[in-house]
Amino acid sequence: MFEDDPELQAFRLRYREFLDANAPRGWRVNATSPDTTLEIQRSWLRTLVAGGWGAAHWPTEYGGMGATLAQQIVMQQENARAGAPAVTMFGMALVHVAATLLEFGTPEQRHEHMPSILRGDEIWCQGFSEPGAGSDLAALSTRAVRDGDNYIINGQKIWSSGANRADWCLLLVRTDPIAVKHKGITFVLLDLHSPGIEIRPIKSLLGSQEFCEVFFTDVVVPVSNRIGEENEGWHICQTTLATERGPYLLPVVNKLRGECAEMGRLAEAIGTDHAAQVAASFHAEVTILSELLDRTLIKAAFGKSGNESSILKVYYSELSQRLTTAALEMVGLDAQLSWPEAFDLNSDTFDGSWGMSHYWSWSWTIAGGSNEIQRNIIGERVLGLPREPRPEAKVR
Ligand SMILES: Cc1cc2nc3c(=O)[nH]c(=O)nc-3n(C[C@H](O)[C@H](O)[C@H](O)COP(=O)(O)OP(=O)(O)OC[C@H]3O[C@@H](n4cnc5c(N)ncnc54)[C@H](O)[C@@H]3O)c2cc1C
Repeated sequence: MFEDDPELQAFRLRYREFLDANAPRGWRVNATSPDTTLEIQRSWLRTLVAGGWGAAHWPTEYGGMGATLAQQIVMQQENARAGAPAVTMFGMALVHVAATLLEFGTPEQRHEHMPSILRGDEIWCQGFSEPGAGSDLAALSTRAVRDGDNYIINGQKIWSSGANRADWCLLLVRTDPIAVKHKGITFVLLDLHSPGIEIRPIKSLLGSQEFCEVFFTDVVVPVSNRIGEENEGWHICQTTLATERGPYLLPVVNKLRGECAEMGRLAEAIGTDHAAQVAASFHAEVTILSELLDRTLIKAAFGKSGNESSILKVYYSELSQRLTTAALEMVGLDAQLSWPEAFDLNSDTFDGSWGMSHYWSWSWTIAGGSNEIQRNIIGERVLGLPREPRPEAKVR
């Protein structure tokens, strides 16, 4: 999509040198327990920040690099080359929370949270979905009632990724039950250590506890933790969600590139023409995806896009499923091993990590808004096709 100019090339070489000297070795995607992964990622985030390479997209006044988009893309390319860990467990904080605070937060909110996020001291989750509000997010019913300088919150969220390890939550609540549904929603920052919160992890088919139900009983949230104005939350959460389908995909696509490189090594070990051809065709597709991501981000940076990130999300999630399915066929029976047995083997190549990656790949056709909804968005807002009949706007 773009060629390195001499300045960008120098930047690339400096970062490459840093990665070669500092990136953790022997680390593999999906090959450790969530707790170990968290510690690997926290330590890597701190190393990046200490080396002056942390939070590339943040402004320098908040401790970020203020890197250009081209520099951020270069860093992701170099991360993939070096097999550096993506700091996904801090992704909600570094990407979603930062984007929301920078655009809509108060200076006090930014100063309270951004430094601790950078130190790896704050983990965040997102409390948007509810049992009756997924695709139709505006139907959410968790209630917040104003009481002086506080809101009192009652209700339930579901599918909150990492809530069991999180300190804070980006929360959507209903403050006006009478207004048209997307006009009565408020966005607040919730301290998950507050009294009245019960977090129940949901065990996924991976065997891990990736997401949670969160219950609120008379939880007190100061009005100073509100983002934007009361009842303006719908508009604000669109920024958070667009981030999830755009910039957030940089490390995710980086992970897929790493898996594609691993598939190349697998094909080499198998040594057949067929395996080589399969690996080559996925290499071509992952390259196309990376180009599409670069293009979407560059367009977004110039304010020319938004909804096109849905194309990216659909393509990424379905490619990831196809790639990991093909890898399972290459690996054969070992792919059926599940964590932790999958990683006790001596072999570097044949283990169960592809099974983990494959199961995990299915989540992305739902997370961040299902692919059916993304196709509706592409049809209506990108291609200009007639709108799906519905009483009022409800697409997340
Ligand atoms: C791995 C993972 C992580 C997640 N993390 C979080 C999180 O951190 N925080 C959070 O708040 N939520 C999270 N979610 C929830 C996610 O955003 C919702 O699951 C998603 O928006 C779909 O909502 P739903 O599950 O209620 O399905 P529903 O909305 O009930 O949809 C059920 C099915 O109907 C289809 N459908 C619904 N409406 C339409 C329509 N208008 N046209 C065509 N098809 C339609 C959907 O595509 C889907 O296939 C996560 C989900 C996953 C899988």
